[in-house]
Amino acid sequence: MTTSHYIAGRWVDGQGSDCISVNDPALGQPFAELIAASAEQVDQAVAAARAALPAWKCTSASERAAYLRGFAEQLGQRREALVALQMRNNGKPRHEAEVDLDDAIATFSYYAELAEQLPGQNRDVPLAAPGFTARTRLEPVGVVGLIVPWNFPLVTSAWKLAPALAAGCTVVLKPSEVTPLCELAYGQIADTLGLPAGVLNIVNGKAETGAALSNHNGLDKLSFTGSNNVGSQVMRSAAAQCRPVTLELGGKSAILVFDDCDVDAAVQWIVAGICWNAGQMCSATSRLLVQDGIADALLPRLQAALENLRVGSPLSEEADMGPLTSQAQWLKVAGYFATAREEGLQCLVGGKVLDRGGWFVSPTLYADVPEGSRLWNEEIFGPVLCARRFASEQQAIAEANDSRFGLVATVCTTDLARAERVADALEVGHVWINSVQAVFVETSWGGTKGSGIGRELGPWGLSGYQSVKHVTQCLG
Ligand code: NAD
Repeated sequence: MTTSHYIAGRWVDGQGSDCISVNDPALGQPFAELIAASAEQVDQAVAAARAALPAWKCTSASERAAYLRGFAEQLGQRREALVALQMRNNGKPRHEAEVDLDDAIATFSYYAELAEQLPGQNRDVPLAAPGFTARTRLEPVGVVGLIVPWNFPLVTSAWKLAPALAAGCTVVLKPSEVTPLCELAYGQIADTLGLPAGVLNIVNGKAETGAALSNHNGLDKLSFTGSNNVGSQVMRSAAAQCRPVTLELGGKSAILVFDDCDVDAAVQWIVAGICWNAGQMCSATSRLLVQDGIADALLPRLQAALENLRVGSPLSEEADMGPLTSQAQWLKVAGYFATAREEGLQCLVGGKVLDRGGWFVSPTLYADVPEGSRLWNEEIFGPVLCARRFASEQQAIAEANDSRFGLVATVCTTDLARAERVADALEVGHVWINSVQAVFVETSWGGTKGSGIGRELGPWGLSGYQSVKHVTQCLG
């Protein structure tokens, strides 16, 4: 398969030097191949987006809203194929793949509504000085590059694509080389809807293609989701050109469980926070902080729940958790199991890869992990949970905040005054109280500290693709 790039409204063959294998992680085997886009093709995609910008940004907000609703509807019509592809390429069990698709649909529907409200956002600004009037005009940032990872391909792209198109930007999207097929659906939908050529361009490829896009001087903004290492490089490219960048990066988030919690509910939240998507979530709550008074009751039940989790092929109705999505990720997690052994960590469950042909690992729990442990501090991106005990609320907050990351946190307690107090004290972008990984399109997404710059979703996601202009007039 070579026709995997959508440039200027046409499907084209890749002309790059990289060949990309698309794998089925449950089998550890490739099922498709494609040729990456060349740097020249990235140029063509940026040029197409630039050429399409003047007309697209002048479309009415309701016209853009209609296209976004079309994307939502067409995603729904492709449900079975997209769910099946995510099960096969990502290793997601069906229920997880369904949630992703619904999330992508909800994102396009939501930004269709926000697009319709755009004209009302241009307003007069009262001035204290006499003799002048002023008004705002929210304009699209321009041509934006969108670079995304593989763990939630449809969703992460939707979180960028929908607000960018709503704002009136034109885009060049580069999916991950691990999951390059999913987002091609957006190109097919653009064709079906008759989206003007060049408004949406998709170039597939590895790091080289990503770098060609992020270094390109034809972009007005770049929005990146991925690792901190690549995020730094993307930020350097943006700095060289003094151009804005949104970065959604890694996490090492905490889940805080207080003594007054219902143990069974807490166990459920903890397991979902580390095992959904096989732990391959930037927002995985991979550091468990459990209060002294509940720890002895909770840890054995947590251990049993992780042991009982059914790990298997996503095609099996029985599987609670699928494989890791790539061999590289599987090797990385295996490396952390080796580090845990070297560090002498106490493993209550798991700690090993599973010998099943595909890239499976067991859900894993380490107890009483020292603060200095690499596993306590580094993002693993797998179903690997580290636990520590705490005595007081202050200690829990201090330990949760003692991280270079600041993406999310979960607080489990029946004392709601304490829950709100702790939520306010946590240095993260999103806190869940007595719930886990509940993401709504109306609320923001993004982190503090090393977890990134900027926010996606909600009105904040839209403003990331807008620029504020003031028009001031002298009356006389
Ligand atoms: P990655 O950084 O390796 O790759 C992300 C994307 O960048 C891919 O499309 C890749 O091809 C591209 N890329 C690689 N090198 C590049 C370069 N030099 N220049 C430009 N682009 C380049 O990340 P990954 O392994 O795909 O994803 C896992 C990471 O993503 C984790 O750290 C995770 O926490 C993070 N993530 C964050 C969020 C969030 O919302 N904060 C969401 C999902 C994933």
